[in-house]
Amino acid sequence: MRIVTELKSKAKYDVIVAGGGVAGVAAAITAKKRGKSVLLLEKSNILGGLATLGLVNLFVPMCNGRGTQIIFGLADEWFYEAAKYGYDTIPDNWQTGEKRMVNRYSPYIFALQLTEQIKNAGVDLLFDCIGSQPVMDGNLCKGVITESKSGREYYEAEMVIDTTGDADLLRRAGVPVVLGKNFYTYVGKKISLESCQKAVDNQNIRYAFEGCKGGAINLYGDHQPADKPLWSGTTVEEVTDYLIDNQLEMLKQLKGDDRNSRDIAMLPMMPNFRTTCRIDGDYTFKESDHYRHFEDSVCAINDFDRKDFLYEVPLRCLTRREFPNLITAGRSASGEGYGWDVIRVIPPAILTGQAAAEAAVLAIETGKPIAEVDIATLQQRLEKEDHIMIHFPDELIPEDQEKIEFGPDEGHI
Ligand SMILES: Cc1cc2nc3c(=O)[nH]c(=O)nc-3n(C[C@H](O)[C@H](O)[C@H](O)COP(=O)(O)OP(=O)(O)OC[C@H]3O[C@@H](n4cnc5c(N)ncnc54)[C@H](O)[C@@H]3O)c2cc1C
Repeated sequence: MRIVTELKSKAKYDVIVAGGGVAGVAAAITAKKRGKSVLLLEKSNILGGLATLGLVNLFVPMCNGRGTQIIFGLADEWFYEAAKYGYDTIPDNWQTGEKRMVNRYSPYIFALQLTEQIKNAGVDLLFDCIGSQPVMDGNLCKGVITESKSGREYYEAEMVIDTTGDADLLRRAGVPVVLGKNFYTYVGKKISLESCQKAVDNQNIRYAFEGCKGGAINLYGDHQPADKPLWSGTTVEEVTDYLIDNQLEMLKQLKGDDRNSRDIAMLPMMPNFRTTCRIDGDYTFKESDHYRHFEDSVCAINDFDRKDFLYEVPLRCLTRREFPNLITAGRSASGEGYGWDVIRVIPPAILTGQAAAEAAVLAIETGKPIAEVDIATLQQRLEKEDHIMIHFPDELIPEDQEKIEFGPDEGHI
């Protein structure tokens, strides 16, 4: 594909990261730590994506449900960081296996903490700036065209990491992608006289917030209304249709309340779409990959819903071999069915963000296509520098593998 531009390059970066959700922020910080120049583009006004803007404020379990932590790296750092100034909802008995290692945090305070992290790392950040178009010379991406208050501009890059969640740049670059389907879900936060009283009684502000729903369908699609479509979320019409439908549903429910008794505290500022569009990567991760070791694993992760289940995410889920300097991470990693769900939630999204960045840096250093970087070196950096577990220990695999045990209900996902 050839996509050219008449625009003069405004600047050249080693790495452009498009999309400042948790995966993008993790990628930007990691690439910068390795000494690369990094530009992070974020179309909204705060960092964190679904994890902040989307009001999804739960770090799902980062342990195996038997007291052993699996997910480390920046996910581990941010898990505790989010508890530092926001709410601290980490169960102190997760290490005994009675509870799991989760944290429901303040979404907006966490967003501010991410801004601080990005600034402290020295990443160049552009808010309110859409990465709209990759400039392509065949399968090589030369840079990214942006749209912002400054108008249309062009930034060149050696490597581009697409963490838009929707694979916006990959799709437009001609990388094969797969569209997802999304249920009727739209969750805001409400305060009421009752919830405020509960907060006062418990001397804890987090009790002041209650769920406030338009559609309220979980990730398994239980009770999806027959008259609602399954939105892919990849066209402006679909996004608008989804938002209008959900907003009217939320209003309908609020109209029944005494108007002096409650108010909406926060609305999701991005659609609550779980799986919109992902790379059709060099490997497609599946639920049946549990307990499977991959030679090119970039992180070990655990299942968020089921105790014991462990996985490894191969680098190939983030790449498409024919595209030498494009990679993705987070919500648009290559997975199918529940496998996609397992690798896209917040803690794994952070780790794949770090892995994409380390791969991009290594590709720059060695002049190799990103899918062909030396795996041993990549894994060594992820393990030693980023403190990420690459392979799960076999002793954590239960003898009776057929036994599926669901963990305690830790909230919606
Ligand atoms: C309803 C719902 C409930 C969930 N519950 C949980 C849960 O309880 N716990 C959990 O761990 N996970 C949960 N998840 C999943 C999790 O929130 C996401 O998968 C994860 O946060 C994805 O992170 P990301 O960085 O890959 O993408 P995103 O969070 O989607 O971030 C993408 C970022 O890119 C920006 N962007 C998009 N397009 C562009 C562009 N063209 N240019 C520039 N910027 C752009 C966006 O504004 C956004 O900031 C839930 C998801 C949903 C929808």
